[in-house]
Amino acid sequence: MQRRTKIVATLGPATDVEKVLRRMIRAGLDVARLNFSHGDAEEHRRRAEKLRSVAKECGRDVGLMGDLQGPKIRVRRFKEHSVELSDGAAFYLDSTLGYEDGTEEGVGVALDSLHQDVVAGDILLLNDGMIALEVQRVEGTRIHTTVITGGIISDHKGINKKGGGLSATALTDIDRENIKLAAELEMDFLAVSFVRSGADVIEARRLFEEAGGKGLIVAKIERTEAVLDMDSIVDAADVIMVARGDLGVEMGYAELTGIQKSLIRKTRKGSKIVITATQMMESMIQHPIPTRAEVSDVSNAVMDGTDAVMLSGETAVGKYPVKAIRAMDEVCTGAEKYPLPHGSTRHRLGDYFEGVDEAIAMAVMYTANHLAVKAIIALTESGSTTRWMSRIRSDIPIYAFTPYAATSRRVALYRGVYPVAFEIEGSDRERLYADIFKTLLSNKLVEVDDLVIFTKGDLQGVSGSTNSMMILEVKDSE
Ligand code: PGA
Ligand code: MN
Repeated sequence: MQRRTKIVATLGPATDVEKVLRRMIRAGLDVARLNFSHGDAEEHRRRAEKLRSVAKECGRDVGLMGDLQGPKIRVRRFKEHSVELSDGAAFYLDSTLGYEDGTEEGVGVALDSLHQDVVAGDILLLNDGMIALEVQRVEGTRIHTTVITGGIISDHKGINKKGGGLSATALTDIDRENIKLAAELEMDFLAVSFVRSGADVIEARRLFEEAGGKGLIVAKIERTEAVLDMDSIVDAADVIMVARGDLGVEMGYAELTGIQKSLIRKTRKGSKIVITATQMMESMIQHPIPTRAEVSDVSNAVMDGTDAVMLSGETAVGKYPVKAIRAMDEVCTGAEKYPLPHGSTRHRLGDYFEGVDEAIAMAVMYTANHLAVKAIIALTESGSTTRWMSRIRSDIPIYAFTPYAATSRRVALYRGVYPVAFEIEGSDRERLYADIFKTLLSNKLVEVDDLVIFTKGDLQGVSGSTNSMMILEVKDSE
C-alpha cells in the first residue's frame, strides 16, 4: 500500500549536505519548504537549485514552497543578547528604544503601533508563550508590564498577544521582496503568514502573479482573526496550513486540537488542500525516534483527513532529518490502515457542482468506492480534477497523468494523488488507452485484467468524448 498522506519538510542547515537531501527525497519527501524567516536570498536560491537538481537525479517531482515571514512581531536586541526575567518583576516594551539597548528593565520592539494595540490587563506572550507579561499601563510608546511567567529571553524572540487583535497588516516590505524571489525561483507554493482574511490572501496572490509567479497560494492560519474568518480564506486560498505554533500561542493550546479538526473539516468541505504543521515530531530535533505522543498526534491528523503533515526544525536544524521523514512515512502509512468505511462519505452530497469537470470527478470517486477498481487515472492539465477527486475519502490511488512538470509538483501535495509524467501522442483514442496501459504496467501500478477508471478531466487537446468517465480493463498491448 502506498502512503496517501504527503510529507512537507523544511530545508535548512541540516539538509544542506547533498547526501542528506537525497536520502530525504528517497525516504518520501513530497514538498520542500524554504522558510523566509531565516537566511538571505542567496541561501534560498542555492537551496532551491540544489533541491531541484537532486530531485531530478532521483526521478521524483518534489514541490517547492516559499514561506513568507509575515508581520511576526519581535523584540529587538539586548545589550548582553539575553536577560532573565523573574516572576513579578516590572518590564517594558518600547518601539522607540535603541535597537540594541535591551536590559532587564525593558527592550525595543519591532512594531511601531504596538502601544496602540494593547490596554491594561492584556497578556503578551514572548518566545512561543514561554514568557508571559501582563500590561499595566501604556505611556506614550512605552508599554509597562509585570512578568507573570519569567524565564530567559534573548534577541529577536517573537511576541504574540493572547486572544489576537494586533493591527499589523499581513504583508510587510520584506514579504513583498520575498514574493518576487518566490516568483523568480518558480516556487510551486507560496505560503502567506498571519493572514487575517480572504482579502489578505487575494492581495498576496495578486503580487505573486504580478511578479510572474504561477504557484498555489497557501494561507497559514495562525491568528484568532483567521479562525473566525475561515470561509473567506478557504475561498481565496488554494491550500490552508494549520500553523499550530503561533495559533497555539494566540488561542491557547487547550482548544488547539478541536480547532485543528474543525479547520481540516472546513478546508476539505470547501474542496481545498490542508497541511497540518508544527511540532509534529519536535523531539526528533534531538532524538532518533518520536515520542508516543508525537506518533499519536501525526496519526490523528491523518485520521482527521489532512492532505499533508509538515516538519519544521526536525529537518531544518535537527540531528536526524532523514529519520524524521522515515518516521513520518511509517506513522502516516500505519494510520491509513484504519480508514473510515467505504462509501460512507457525504462530501458535497447536498451541493450543486461548479462545473462539468467537478461533476465527473465526483462521479468517478463514488463509482471507484463501490466497484473493485484498482486505480483512477486522470489526464489533467492543472491538477484540479484530481484535487476534487481527492476530497472524497478512498483507498484507491489517483494517478494524475500530465505532461506538465509544474502540475506534477503541485499534485504532490494532494492526498492520495500521485503524479505520472505522460505525453499525449496523436489523437487516436485506442492509441491513448494503449499508451496509458503501457505506462501503468511498466511502472507496476496495476496488473493485466485489473479494472481502472479513466477520465479525461481537464486536459485540452485530447480527442474522444469531452469529460467522459470510462471503466476499462487493463490490456497488455504487446
Ligand atoms: P512558522 O509557522 O513556522 O513560520 O512560525 C508555522 C506555525 O506558526 O505553526
Ligand atoms: Mn508561525
